[in-house]
Amino acid sequence: MPRLVSHPDEVKIVTRRFGQGAAEIDRYLELGGYQSAKKCLEQGAEWIIAEMKASGLRGRGGAGFPTGMKWSFVPKQLDKPKFVVVNGDESEPGTCKDHLIFLHDPHSVIEGAIIAGLAIGAKQGFIYLRGEYRYLLEIMEKAVADAYARGFLGKNIFGLGDESTGTEFQIITQTGAGAYEVGEESALMESVEGKRGVPRIKPPFPALVGLYGGPTVINNAETIATVPHVIAMGAAAYAAVGSERNGGTRLFSLSGHIERPGVYELPMGYNLKKMIYEVGGGVKGGRGLKAVIPGGCSTPVLLPEEIDIGMDFDQVAKAGSMLGSAGVVVIDDQTCIVEFALRTISFYQHESCGWCIPCREGTDWLKKSLTRFHAGFGEAKDIDNMQYIAENMMGRTFCPLGDAAAGPILGFVKKFRKEFEEHLNGRPCPFARHGESAVG
Ligand code: SF4
Repeated sequence: MPRLVSHPDEVKIVTRRFGQGAAEIDRYLELGGYQSAKKCLEQGAEWIIAEMKASGLRGRGGAGFPTGMKWSFVPKQLDKPKFVVVNGDESEPGTCKDHLIFLHDPHSVIEGAIIAGLAIGAKQGFIYLRGEYRYLLEIMEKAVADAYARGFLGKNIFGLGDESTGTEFQIITQTGAGAYEVGEESALMESVEGKRGVPRIKPPFPALVGLYGGPTVINNAETIATVPHVIAMGAAAYAAVGSERNGGTRLFSLSGHIERPGVYELPMGYNLKKMIYEVGGGVKGGRGLKAVIPGGCSTPVLLPEEIDIGMDFDQVAKAGSMLGSAGVVVIDDQTCIVEFALRTISFYQHESCGWCIPCREGTDWLKKSLTRFHAGFGEAKDIDNMQYIAENMMGRTFCPLGDAAAGPILGFVKKFRKEFEEHLNGRPCPFARHGESAVG
């Protein structure tokens, strides 16, 4: 479990109640909790969506879709039950932020879900926790029970009406069975419905046909936990913290070969090089930097000369990678990239649901090739072959896992081709440092 860390450059918005006992509802209320939901109840749906749009808040799960716009896609007049789903299936390797929110500030997730419900006209919310986060279920369920007991959830929330005129919002908590794939929104909906967590074909998109066929908004836990803060501080003030078109802060999970790993809340657009060398204290043991994964292991690798960039969705994309889940993995110069690639593809091969051939077969072939290659039995043609397989997976699968698996391998092969070629000497990995790995 990552420790609570701190740095003077942090702007504590989402994490401002961490370590202050805010999992207890009385403490949460003392710290201003549930005031944002009350304000939203008074202001109404259009005002909420306008605030979200003005805040520049973009989805923190990885895709970075503007939250206000996503909420506005839910049809207002459709006479069907609508749903809010909080995606707490945090599974991307290198990412460990959402569980801190559930642990330290579970009511912010509940409050954010209430606000999302008010914005789209939903009466039912689900908080979905990753299977491996089952130990957090007790905390979340207690928080939900406390919120019901105080009237923040139920038939007539905040007691502003009565049983017939009041606003209703209910929450159910649920855990998955430990599959990476259910982090994808349509697979998550299948899982909530009690089915195997495999993706649905899109369109239709969840805003029109989602959970149980009803219009549904699915947001990452960090996104939802941010919402009450946006309301509390005002959209303009929140937007001003971040960079252009990227409002506010981000919880960056800093891991790998770094002196001070942990989760840091920094403004969107914060310089990646500064994050590694100043916030994180530099590469562990003073070793050299070989590469950085900027947004969780499914995002393409950056070389040391490519990291002088702002960490927001647009700037990282311009540098040829993705901000993704903001899981920054630092890789030192003692690391074997072939081994790193092998470990990465092993994860995705294991997690592929097997529905579509490019992902099912591609991840398997890449794993086989990299295993052979890493053991010193590779051939020169294997390098081009791996690149060919990865290129043919990109954009040809039902869900983003295919790209998530192929993208990093393409990056490794293209940017570290020389290191791959050095493995062709007929001996095992020349860089291997047994017993330690950035992704081990
Ligand atoms: Fe399943 Fe992979 Fe296809 Fe996604 S890309 S649907 S995980 S086989």
